[in-house]
Amino acid sequence: MPKQPLADLAFATQAIHVGQAAEPTTGATIVPIFATSTYTQLGIGEHRGFDYSRTNNPTRQALERQLAALEAGEFGIAFASGMAATTAVLNLLSAGDHVVVSEDLYGGSYRLFTKVLPRYGLTFTFVDMRNPAAVSQALRPETKMIWVETPTNPLLNLVDIKAIVGMRKSGQVLVVDNTFATPYFQQPLGLGADIVVHSTTKYIGGHSDVVGGVVISNNPDLAATVRFHQNACGAVPSPFDAWLTMRGAKTLALRMREHATNALAVASALAKRDDIESVNYPGLPSHPQHALARAQMQGFGGMLSFTMRGNFDRVKAVVKATRLFSLAESLGGVESLMCHPATMTHGSIPQQERESRGITDRLLRLSVGIEAADDLIADITTALDTYPPG
Ligand SMILES: *Cc1c(COP(=O)(O)O)cnc(C)c1O
Repeated sequence: MPKQPLADLAFATQAIHVGQAAEPTTGATIVPIFATSTYTQLGIGEHRGFDYSRTNNPTRQALERQLAALEAGEFGIAFASGMAATTAVLNLLSAGDHVVVSEDLYGGSYRLFTKVLPRYGLTFTFVDMRNPAAVSQALRPETKMIWVETPTNPLLNLVDIKAIVGMRKSGQVLVVDNTFATPYFQQPLGLGADIVVHSTTKYIGGHSDVVGGVVISNNPDLAATVRFHQNACGAVPSPFDAWLTMRGAKTLALRMREHATNALAVASALAKRDDIESVNYPGLPSHPQHALARAQMQGFGGMLSFTMRGNFDRVKAVVKATRLFSLAESLGGVESLMCHPATMTHGSIPQQERESRGITDRLLRLSVGIEAADDLIADITTALDTYPPG
């Protein structure tokens, strides 16, 4: 793939233009949905770069170029889901290899790393990466990958990417799952990471209407291997899904600014209340890693979580009482969502381990949407006021 053109342009401009030149035969301004599985070839051994849609498709290629540009990466490789993208990256490893992973991990990644991949001879060590020294202690001669998630879900802890880059040894691939921050607020490749993974289902798609994933890298060898696995294993997005994701990503800059403004407003309103025990949002000066957030991120994102005072019955009542925050898994759409990690996203983690990490029955996670901030604050405030603790 050629180097990204338009690399001199700003993020918001690239989101709308990279990979999205007018279609040459008709002039269609918007990249069409190339709903075709195959391509008529000019002659034996002669084609226009496309031969079969698992291998390559013009709509998917446009999306891959767009998303690579947003991460300041040269190579983008799109998948049918974030988990398919994660699997393709883990396919870089072989039986006997060891991976050091963020302890505070997306539940689906945790499931893949504990239930599926160990059967193929990979081993995983989970460490609390808030302390980078713990990563260095976990490295072994057979460690081939370090898997970082920052900020983490649902507690919004941060990992210092540069510190991990500094302790990583040659031959160890550093991967960052950048789903929560998005490239608008955090660009791990620029900090020295080798690979970025996204669930494009979340902020990049941005409208809760499509599932997808992407792998981005500047390393030609790693990218070529992931590209090989994209075709060999076959978990590719459909042309329609690629098109929908590309359409969502055009407005990523605009949406992320609004998500972050609203999240800070909601977090600040919650932090003022006596009936809330704690609020986790990297943008609050009270966040233990606020200084790192300021250094590593260009904004603090749209996710927050908080622990309520009272009992589980209060939590249940408050969740039912909101009008705007829907109780749902997933995140990153324009609409506000609310999630109860202990029973939903993190229900598969044993209770004792969950609670020791702070994921209690009284923790709620919010994906703050881009509705008017005052409406969101009024909604949650009214629900909390209606059901006071005790
Ligand atoms: C949702 C998510 C994934 C998995 O993505 P899917 O598109 O659901 O397969 C991976 N990492 C993080 C941080 C996520 O939020």
